[in-house]
Parts: sequence; structure tokens; C-alpha cells
Amino acid sequence: MPKNKGRNAFFFFMIHWRKREEAQGRTFPDGLKDVQRDSKCTLEWQTLTKQEKGHFEAMAKNDKIVSQVSVKDKKTTLGESLNMLKQKEKEAEMFIKNMQENIKVIIDSAVNLNFLAELKFCFVHVNWFFCKIVNNIPEYFPAEYTFGVFSLKNGIEDVHHTIVSAKIPLGYRREALEISQNSHKIPVEYEGGQIDFAVMYDRLADFLESRKLVDQYPYLYTRQAFTREVQSLITKLCDAAQEDKEQFKIYELESLFTHLANELFKKREDRDMDTIPVYAHKIFENYTYRFDKGSECHFHKYVDGGSEYCSKSVLQQWAWTLCDEFCAPLDIKIQPGVHQPDRSELDQFDNQHLMSMMSNLQVKDVHQSKSDIDGVLSMTGVSEQHRLKVSGRTYEQEMRRRQESKPIQVIDCSKFQDSASNDASCSNNFIDKWASKKPIGEKAEYVCFLI
Ligand SMILES: [Zn+2]
Repeated sequence: MPKNKGRNAFFFFMIHWRKREEAQGRTFPDGLKDVQRDSKCTLEWQTLTKQEKGHFEAMAKNDKIVSQVSVKDKKTTLGESLNMLKQKEKEAEMFIKNMQENIKVIIDSAVNLNFLAELKFCFVHVNWFFCKIVNNIPEYFPAEYTFGVFSLKNGIEDVHHTIVSAKIPLGYRREALEISQNSHKIPVEYEGGQIDFAVMYDRLADFLESRKLVDQYPYLYTRQAFTREVQSLITKLCDAAQEDKEQFKIYELESLFTHLANELFKKREDRDMDTIPVYAHKIFENYTYRFDKGSECHFHKYVDGGSEYCSKSVLQQWAWTLCDEFCAPLDIKIQPGVHQPDRSELDQFDNQHLMSMMSNLQVKDVHQSKSDIDGVLSMTGVSEQHRLKVSGRTYEQEMRRRQESKPIQVIDCSKFQDSASNDASCSNNFIDKWASKKPIGEKAEYVCFLI
């Protein structure tokens, strides 16, 4: 049986090209042979950029891996090919090895050239709505993401932040609502966010373009626990824009920390060199900066709760953690607001913000404010407009209710002479007795103080 060597990148381009041409009304009776004979197809292939070809090269690479798996290959209980799993494991090991080597080269070069303080790193964090398992791989649907450029000298220098408002697929809305409610609080299909993943790709590519090194996008650092979320985001954006996801490498923040510590902890007597790998994994879990406000995005600044989950805030927390450890050995003077939170400024901001909110407070008729709340969904997916329509009182009803209501009567139990005991169980008897003296049908509210 001849060995299937897999199909090349041009093969996958031909399929793509034929589909596009057929959508415009062309037919190919002889299938791909007709496509292959068409000089327009070959010409277009030759004029593709490296990035455009990369998409098809990635497809060919996957195909090659699949073709290497024998038909007799053993499967796991989940139906995965054992050979395929071994191949993936090998690739993952190789990826980690390359990552460690690349980070070491970057840090060593910067140390030799004495610009480690100015060396820029790109961080990324993603919040998500739900997770779907596809081919035994979890895929996370993004809710919010932030890419940030960081250096030890200047802290977070620049950020690219996005809230995703793309439609949630059928069957995943409840999970999305629950995840949102328990963490970042971003409403599903929030009106102020981005809808088109291809547009999101373009904006990200624009942001990272000036940070490229020798035509290669910078490595994207995130915490080890978040690599799948970030990988899902990159895949989603690249697929939508038909770009090659392999052009983005997702590296672990903990590995970056370890390599920086290997170099810079030599100058800190209060740090133990032997525990660096463990320390690197624990340091980003601490809560030192978790609730410091001021660096959250516009949405999280004005939403009640969830700001500690804001992607923009998380990036800032990582930055401050790194500055805590590595600014001192590099003789970088700590500046509040750059290398650590400026808490005095935040207090002032909070006071000013509160004063401005108080001065703008006004009671509005429901009819006047209705246009402001149209279309805004609560966490249960019900709009405020619908809730008011179904169960809310009108302004006139509310006024009538207030006018007709009886005043609250206060009874001081300590002065009630009829009670032989002052224990709590006695109070119920007392209320029953007292209430029974009132005419039936007369409604009033009672408050009883037990002393
Ligand atoms: Zn946010």
C-alpha cells in the first residue's frame, strides 16, 4: 500500500480558489484537474504574500501529520490516535524547549548590551464567555482581551484592549451568562464591543506591527494557566482573517520570570536562587495588587464588581509584580503609577469621582430615562425595558401607592406592662395579642424593638 505523504499547500489553495470561483458561477467538470490547468489560479498563488501562503502551509502541515497516522493505529477511549498524541506530545516538548532557549537568548543579549531595563515584552490576557470542546481540544469564546507592551523601566507602555460583542452560538448562552456573572461581569453581546473577528485581527496586527523583530511578531507572554485561552483567541482571529496562526508564539510568563530571576536575583540577597522555579509559579497568584483600582478598562471602571478580573487590570498586576522583583537589581527608581500603584492619586480620584457622581444625581421619571435603558440586558438576559413593562408600576401608580400607604407605627416592647417575661418567645404572643385588637382589614406595618 503506497504511503500517503499528505497534500501540499498549493493543493489546499486550489480547493479554496475553486470554492470562491464556484460561488461566482464558474464550473469545473473535471474537478481539481481543471483548476490546476487554469493559469489564473497558478498566477494568483505566485502573487500571494508569505503570510497569505502561511495559512495554506499550516493546513498542509496538519494534513501531513494526519497522513502519517496508520489506519491500524491504536486509539484512546476518547477515539484519539495514540500515534497522533505521541506526535503532539513531542511537538509540545519541542515548543517548550525552543521557548526556554529563545527567552534565554533574549535576556542574555539584553544583559550583554546593557539594555535589560528597556527591553520590551508583550503581555496578553483573555476573559472568556464559554468553553467548547472540539476534537478533544477546549476552545474558549473571548469576552475581553488586552495586549500590552511592558518594560521594567517604563512599566506598561501601551495597550490594545477589546471587548467582544460577537453573537453567542445557540446552546451556550446560559454558560456565558453564568461565567460572566461569576467573574468579569461583561454582558453577553454587549453593545459597545467588537463584532467582527476579522476586524479584530486587523486591529491587533496594526498594534503589533511596529513591535515586529525581523518580520516576526513579538512573543506573546501570558500565565501558563491561560495559554489555551490565548491560543483560542489567536486561532479565532487568524481563522476569521484567513491568516496563519503560527506567526504568533504564545510563551509563558513564568518562564520569562525564571530567566529574569536567574540573572537578576544574583543582586538580591533577600531572594533564594534555589527556589526560583517554584517562586515563579507562585508569585503571580498573590493578591497584592488584585484590588488596586485605576488601570481597569472603561467598561470595568463604571460597572459594579468584576474590575479585578478586567484584562487591562490583570496586565497591570503582572507588570507591578515584575517591577517589585526586578527594578531594584537594575537600579530603577520606583515611580508610583509606573512601577507600583499610585494609591494617593487613586484616593483623590475616588473622592472626586464620588463628588461628581453625587452632584449629578437626580431622580428621573421612568418615562424620561426609558431611552437610556432600552436594549440593555441584565445577567439573566432580560432587558430592563421588558421587566418594567411586565412588572413595573407606572409613575402614577407609584404616586398613588405612596399617598395611600399607612405610616409605620413603632412599638417599644420594653415599656409593655402586660408581658410577664422579656424573653424573645414572648414577643410573638405580644404581637399577636396587640394585632388582634385592630379591626380586621385595617392594614398597617409594625416595627417592634426588643430591648
Ligand atoms: Zn475590562
